[in-house]
Amino acid sequence: MTAQLIDGNALSRELRAQVAQRSTALKERGVTPGLAVIQVGENPASQVYVRNKVKACADAGLHSVLEHYPADLSEAALLERIAALNADASIHGILVQLPVPAHIDAQKVIAAIAPAKDVDGFHVVSAGALMTGMPGFLPCTPYGCMKMLESIGYELRGKHAVVIGRSNIVGKPMALLLLQKNATVTVCHSATRDLKAFTLQADVIVAAVGKRNVLTADMVKPGAVVLDVGMNRNDEGKLCGDVDFAGVKDVAGFITPVPGGVGPMTITMLLVNTLEAAERAASLK
Ligand code: NAP
Repeated sequence: MTAQLIDGNALSRELRAQVAQRSTALKERGVTPGLAVIQVGENPASQVYVRNKVKACADAGLHSVLEHYPADLSEAALLERIAALNADASIHGILVQLPVPAHIDAQKVIAAIAPAKDVDGFHVVSAGALMTGMPGFLPCTPYGCMKMLESIGYELRGKHAVVIGRSNIVGKPMALLLLQKNATVTVCHSATRDLKAFTLQADVIVAAVGKRNVLTADMVKPGAVVLDVGMNRNDEGKLCGDVDFAGVKDVAGFITPVPGGVGPMTITMLLVNTLEAAERAASLK
């Protein structure tokens, strides 16, 4: 292996310790940061994510409430619940675990969350703030990727970054954050012709597709930084990313593993956003 590992678990420990410290300071001012997590239905992956988020809150000294509703909860009832949490002063962040069942409009649900409590950073107000360079909540996964680049002291100015994937929650905000740091950014997607021609030019590659082996060693410039957002299962049922880690680690300069890379950082940045929401609320009091 020639690449240096960017260890998302180690970096998360460091950042979560800072969250715990700031949370203690806030509690001394009479405010306990609080996150409400809403899950609708029994999606097994969601169940794991939600459990991990609630546990991470407890470990960092944040208050959290888990509301788990049956899959047949009506959209109106969910919107009503969100309205109540918007008005609840003990809750600073609201997260609705996606996907929601098909009869519920996810966009409507996200739009119902008060932007001041949008700790997932999915609301159009948050997206608009990112787009225009205004302060707002950053989506946790791209935010975590930026922290990983920061942790290795990587200077993005003038570098070529290639983002593979253009979802609203990962690819697009990732591209905007890289652009904000003065990288030249290329966004690739399913209609991109000759993906390899782009990735071979890249100093930084972020793979956010959801398919195994989207990025292989022959597609990576020696020394490039490779961030693997993907979460897939291999033939043995083990968690793996979009990157062929075994091959790419011998070409890249830095690489994130799966598991233990971007995944824990996503939860860490949720804690950071929740803390920040509580700090903002406290300063308004
Ligand atoms: P998504 O909404 O399904 O988006 C996937 C993107 O990949 C789309 O933009 C799609 O292009 C593009 N794509 C599909 N096939 C491609 C190909 N062969 N070449 C290039 N691009 C291709 O997924 P997402 O929500 O962004 O998530 C992506 C992955 O990250 C998933 O594995 C997800 O589980 C994982 N994830 C991980 C974390 C974490 O914390 N680690 C957080 C969020 C997501 P089109 O737009 O043209 O369809």
